[in-house]
Amino acid sequence: MSRYHQNWGVTGHEWAIQHLARSLNAGRLRHAYLFTGPAGVGKTTLALAMAMAVNCIDDHARPCGVCRPCTLIAREKHADVSILRADEGALKIEQVRNMVQTLSLRPVEARYRVVILRRFNEATPQAMDALLKTLEEPPPYVLLLITADSADRLLPTIRSRCQPLNLRPIAPMQVREALIFNHNLDPEGAALLAQLSGGRMGWAIRAVTDGDMQSRRTDWLQQLEDALDQDRVKRFALAENLSSTKNRGDLPEVLELWLSYWRDALLLSSHASTPIVNRDRRHSLDQIARALSADQALNVLQAVRRTARMLDQNVNARLAMEVLMLDLPRLRLYQAPPG
Ligand SMILES: [Zn+2]
Repeated sequence: MSRYHQNWGVTGHEWAIQHLARSLNAGRLRHAYLFTGPAGVGKTTLALAMAMAVNCIDDHARPCGVCRPCTLIAREKHADVSILRADEGALKIEQVRNMVQTLSLRPVEARYRVVILRRFNEATPQAMDALLKTLEEPPPYVLLLITADSADRLLPTIRSRCQPLNLRPIAPMQVREALIFNHNLDPEGAALLAQLSGGRMGWAIRAVTDGDMQSRRTDWLQQLEDALDQDRVKRFALAENLSSTKNRGDLPEVLELWLSYWRDALLLSSHASTPIVNRDRRHSLDQIARALSADQALNVLQAVRRTARMLDQNVNARLAMEVLMLDLPRLRLYQAPPG
């Protein structure tokens, strides 16, 4: 009899893999799992690995990562494994309805028909509702893998029918090693990205493969630093730009980045021995730490956090950003000397 292998090709989350592998080995697989955790922590990666594990045809180590089902699933090309993503904004009821219809068909070649529903916490209540019947009486060959940043916004009836697996950020050291050994990063670059990732492997991999992401990060930090020396009119123009329809979707990430920046400023201004995250901004952060007291840095940090929380509650984004702009201190930063 074949065993499900311990190595799922996933960095970290060993306990979750162990739990899933044990359930598979014992034939106690549930029909719906709910992976929760912060964006980029590895929810979809783990869900894909699980889709491979249940459909792998290797005799010894599942998932083997090299058989036909494994490779097709890894490339998101397997006919019986689909990922449901929101077209724009949230998952729509039609998407879920269409998906539910395909579930009545037996898998074409795999053991399980697997559907991964991404960021389901952002789906409309109607879209969640459309999934309920399937969750109540799933066909025996169906495996539903739901991902969500947090379970709070899910209908309780959805939550109660899924096996929850809450993924937490992994140790930055683990991210660093994976970046060096699996993605050929130099140790210095890997250390910086590992810190920035906050233990979110998926985020780190995206940062490596998506050049845009690095330049967006640089832009957002530059905009913040520029704003410190700007008057109210320019700051409000930035607030308008960041909360425009085009950019609104990025705002949570912008604020998370700014939060890490002000946390660094607070660490430096209070002479803490904890290493800072945005080490490539050391030159500016040192100036801020000299100009502001720890209390002042803390105030800004709290203002950013407040803004992030307000956006989470769907307040007017532009207004929230304008308030934040007024809470930023007025400072002139000098550029780092070239080289
Ligand atoms: Zn395989």
